Amino acid sequence: MTTDLLQLDGSFGEGGGQILRTSLALSCITGRPFRIYNIRANRPKPGLRRQHLTAVLAAAKISGAGVTGAAVESTELTFHPGPVRPGEYEFDVGSAGSTMLVLQTVLPPLMIAGRPSVVHLRGGTHNTGAPPFDFLAQTFLPQLAKIGPKVELTLDRAGFVPAGGGRAVARIIPATHLTALALHDRGREIGRRATATVAWLDPEIARREVDTAVRAMGWPKEAGRVFELPAEQGPGNVLSLAVQCEHVTEVVTGFGQRGVRAEQVARDAARELRAYLAHAAPVGEHLADQLLLPMALARAGSFTTGPLSLHATTNVETIGRFLPGVRFAVEDRGGDTFRVTVNAPAGVPPS
Ligand code: ATP
Repeated sequence: MTTDLLQLDGSFGEGGGQILRTSLALSCITGRPFRIYNIRANRPKPGLRRQHLTAVLAAAKISGAGVTGAAVESTELTFHPGPVRPGEYEFDVGSAGSTMLVLQTVLPPLMIAGRPSVVHLRGGTHNTGAPPFDFLAQTFLPQLAKIGPKVELTLDRAGFVPAGGGRAVARIIPATHLTALALHDRGREIGRRATATVAWLDPEIARREVDTAVRAMGWPKEAGRVFELPAEQGPGNVLSLAVQCEHVTEVVTGFGQRGVRAEQVARDAARELRAYLAHAAPVGEHLADQLLLPMALARAGSFTTGPLSLHATTNVETIGRFLPGVRFAVEDRGGDTFRVTVNAPAGVPPS
């Protein structure tokens, strides 16, 4: 194991928070300390925001790490992890920032940690620019279970921007051995669902979203459902469109916004889901970038997806800094379809 400080420029590639989250996770796993500067340099408000700071403190907590620079707006940080300690934890973002991105940081180390963990999360559960609860529960975690770790994610209370206050719990059963995922076709479609949720807002908004979405998708009316949450969980409105296939479920999310009509939110989400369905690849844009790290830890696996996002290619580069023995091959299969393969040549150490 190398213990010299890995230097990372947080402005490379996409220059966002993923470089930090992936580095924290892999630092805990490999024991390799790192220094990151120019944190989130390409974002309108660079440096650590509450959600990123919570992720830093959470990673420090599970690994007993020594940290410098852990403060809101900090653009530089050093992180010296100790051994990962599975257990029961509570992480509170303290704002409506995404709890799911905090989970994305601590899950990789805890999912191979030898003993189960329970992680209580407080903050936002349905945020734009982050995996919403339903995406993690229905799309990501079932694929992760095929690799090995089993995670039960439950939502106790929804948390929307700006109020936050959401509560989710992740019960993590780690895997001692990670298996190669092979996800190259969706299989038969076995379910479809349009779910619109409102809190504090007029339920008519959710009804209009569901009606528009099922019509735009050509689904029967029965595929739609409306949830009205207790008013104190609001204001909030989210539309979730899910297509369940034999081998993968895709969840597309639309968020109600002031000044944007409910019909527009629904049409945009339906357009995104139709584009996914029109394409032969089973792995959508977001699942693609989220599968890279678990597959790198398995040191094997492959999937078929569309063109990789800058987010995904930046993640590949970040993973490569901590796990230089792991190789990602991206093969153009024509028709805007790509096959991503992870392998680690025999004899090459993981870090
Ligand atoms: P920031 O610097 O603000 O933290 P970032 O670069 O970390 O931004 P994003 O590009 O916004 O983050 O994405 C963060 C993660 O959230 C990625 O793993 C991405 O796939 C995921 N994500 C974003 N939107 C969705 C969505 N609608 N459904 C599922 N996952 C999503």
